[in-house]
Amino acid sequence: MNMLRRGRFAPTPSGLLHIGNAFTALCAWLQIRQAGGQFLLRIEDIDKSRSRPAFAERQIDDLRWLGLDWDEGPQAGGPCAPYYQSGREQLYENALERLKADGRIYPCYCSRADLASIASAPHGLSSEGTSYPGLCRHLTNEERHANETVKAASLRFMMTDESSSFEDAIHRVQNFGREEMGDFIVKRADGMFSYQLAVTVDDAAMEITDVLRGADLLDSTPRQLALYAALGLKPPRFAHVPLLADAEGSRLSKRDKSLTLATLRAEGARPERLVGLIACLAGWLDRLEPVTAQELIPCFHTKQLNKPLISVSDEQLRWLQES
Ligand code: GLU
Repeated sequence: MNMLRRGRFAPTPSGLLHIGNAFTALCAWLQIRQAGGQFLLRIEDIDKSRSRPAFAERQIDDLRWLGLDWDEGPQAGGPCAPYYQSGREQLYENALERLKADGRIYPCYCSRADLASIASAPHGLSSEGTSYPGLCRHLTNEERHANETVKAASLRFMMTDESSSFEDAIHRVQNFGREEMGDFIVKRADGMFSYQLAVTVDDAAMEITDVLRGADLLDSTPRQLALYAALGLKPPRFAHVPLLADAEGSRLSKRDKSLTLATLRAEGARPERLVGLIACLAGWLDRLEPVTAQELIPCFHTKQLNKPLISVSDEQLRWLQES
């Protein structure tokens, strides 16, 4: 039996969407629309100090302008509501309780400065900095009590001693050694749940079968897979698409205001041009031409997406801004 495929786009509302985010969103949407599946939008506003409701509203409006729609999510509703992570903390707490009951969580009192001073710490996954050397893993109860009087603990998930291997739908087999991964934080000392825990709990609760996201998160995947296993959940298929870079090869960031959808829209750019540019960069069209997201559904493939970055030339940007 063919399982109904479910995919999602999950932006963090800490800034405006730029053309790189549009690239990822369009890839995720096309993959699912081509497969006749269901597409979800989830707002990852778990970090309240960085997230703003106004950015979430603007992101939603920009995605609609691009021509995307979603079967579940903000404005559409759905059986997995709420679709804002800030309203889902009880689910993260439940997962944490389960991990604690299974002995997979321990309190950690190390500060960033402590960790930075350990020169011998092995280099870890780039998305989370250096790999945690396990300092607080084996503290005695007395040591824990002594620490508690001076400092609030963060909570770390204990990885097993195994290396991790998984098949990315675009990059094929990925191997991560035990020393690269390290025990990672699932709840910070200030009470904030980590991205790794929240995203895993939500993708599972929302029955996502296909996670397609930016290549900067490729090395988060072994950690999320470890959480799926520890929580007894079935993992989705993962696919990681290239990030967009400028002509010099530097990846675009939320700080580059000129390439946000908001700025492009304010300057009169049309969505069919942005979609056409993305289609050309992804190899779905062989020349620049305006096209709608809907028209691209049969054209989607990932044959040319097996790389970390795609550069956008100045000439392509000029074409985008022509009306
Ligand atoms: N919220 C994350 C971001 O905006 C994406 C998470 C994911 O797709 O797994 O970078």
